[in-house]
Amino acid sequence: MRLVMKFGGTAVDSGKKIVHITNLIKSYHNKGNEIIGVFSAVTGITDEILNISRYILKKDKNKIKEFINNTRSIHVDIINECIKNNTHKAKALQVVEILLKEMESILNGLVLLAEVTEKALDHLLSFGERLLTPIISYSLLDKGIDSVYLTGQEVGILTDSKYGQARPLIDTTKIRVKHNIDPLLKEKKIPVITGFIGADQNGNTTTLGRSGSDYTATIIAACIDADEVWLWTDVNGLMTADPNIVKQAKVLREVSFAEAIELSLFGAKYMHPRALEPVMDSKIPIRIRNAFNISNHGTLISKLPSKSSQRIVKSIIAIRNTALIDVSGGAMVGAPGTAAKIFDALARKSVNIMMISQSPSESSISMVVKKDDLDTAITTLDLTLVDNLIKNVKVNEDVAVIAVVGSGMRGIKGIAAKVFTSISEKKINVIMITQGSSELNLAFVVNNSDCEKAVRSLHETFMLTKIN
Ligand code: ADP
Ligand code: ASP
Ligand code: MG
Repeated sequence: MRLVMKFGGTAVDSGKKIVHITNLIKSYHNKGNEIIGVFSAVTGITDEILNISRYILKKDKNKIKEFINNTRSIHVDIINECIKNNTHKAKALQVVEILLKEMESILNGLVLLAEVTEKALDHLLSFGERLLTPIISYSLLDKGIDSVYLTGQEVGILTDSKYGQARPLIDTTKIRVKHNIDPLLKEKKIPVITGFIGADQNGNTTTLGRSGSDYTATIIAACIDADEVWLWTDVNGLMTADPNIVKQAKVLREVSFAEAIELSLFGAKYMHPRALEPVMDSKIPIRIRNAFNISNHGTLISKLPSKSSQRIVKSIIAIRNTALIDVSGGAMVGAPGTAAKIFDALARKSVNIMMISQSPSESSISMVVKKDDLDTAITTLDLTLVDNLIKNVKVNEDVAVIAVVGSGMRGIKGIAAKVFTSISEKKINVIMITQGSSELNLAFVVNNSDCEKAVRSLHETFMLTKIN
């Protein structure tokens, strides 16, 4: 089989784990499979880079040294633990040192300007993934497996220039990726590719958005007609609920592409929301598997899951760290384009609105945004206030969105009644409700303090512990 295997940050955050996953790659390679590896940065590194870019704005030079030293020690520890051969070890250390020096000079340049443009930030973010792939490659070589490490740009992922959220220009990407990967596979080499990053037409580094390594894996799979994509992670697969909230949550054996998109849109954090786009047409199945429990088959995401796996409700998702904004004002009533004006203003500031509802009287609009976007959202709305369109902006900072997801909900009567009876029996107050037009989800907002109670209650009502 031709398999694209993506390893998430959680699967590669120590030398010991890397020894484990390189052995795993070796065993599938030795069975005659063609393996293409896609790797995230070590867990937490992307967040650290985002953090340091905030210190640049504050002209804090000391933090840069501290950050570089910390990043060095994380990667050097990993190298010492996962590469035995001294020549390989020295080479890996050398590549990592060159990258760290380059990153340090860029950071020191930026701190003088006290500015990080979106373009510069994408370039900085790319170091996370670029630091890891050479280590993986030398670790494979240590086990006698030949491999070549490549960045997203080197493998041929061409994107538009929307930094932070770039999209692949798929036709050119297909030609380039195929041209670069096929010869390596013929020579039985394993391509070890950075997830998350590509380059635009001018050769500038771009990133595909958080969790973008999933997206890289599916883009590559579509380019080289892979048989399957395996997303290796630290849990057994997609689950009926976050296992941190519901201890008895079960792994879903099969979900459809449509359901998986719904689950990722609701921010269950295991997948990039657009990751399924490249493989849906070519019907390449995706498996989510636990790299540390390979006897478990994980979750299979495919076009047509088997009949036995089709259920009304499959998963209860909780999205924390969200805020509810209510805007109101008499001038909004009957004024055409009010909602459009508000959403357009927010979109231009890259505020992502997760849920919307408008009162029938048109005098108020409620929307849910991520807490990270709240500041920008409120400032933008305040500016719109100047137009006299909005009179009041009210914020509830402590809410959670609960989403009930399953393709079997489509056209079935009484689901909403069942959901809200379950919720009201637990005396939980529902603040806002929406249903996606796909009818694959029903989502509502509750106070954050009621979040876990609501998820557990619905998990029980829909008997999700009995799913398999
Ligand atoms: P990776 O590093 O492999 O990309 P992520 O950290 O992005 O992994 O996502 C995996 C994590 O998502 C798990 O560790 C788990 O805690 C969390 N999670 C939240 N909700 C769910 C769910 N419904 N099913 C599976 N995992 C979930
Ligand atoms: N390292 C990137 C992130 O943390 C991409 C990924 O992990 O998929 O979002
Ligand atoms: Mg992820």
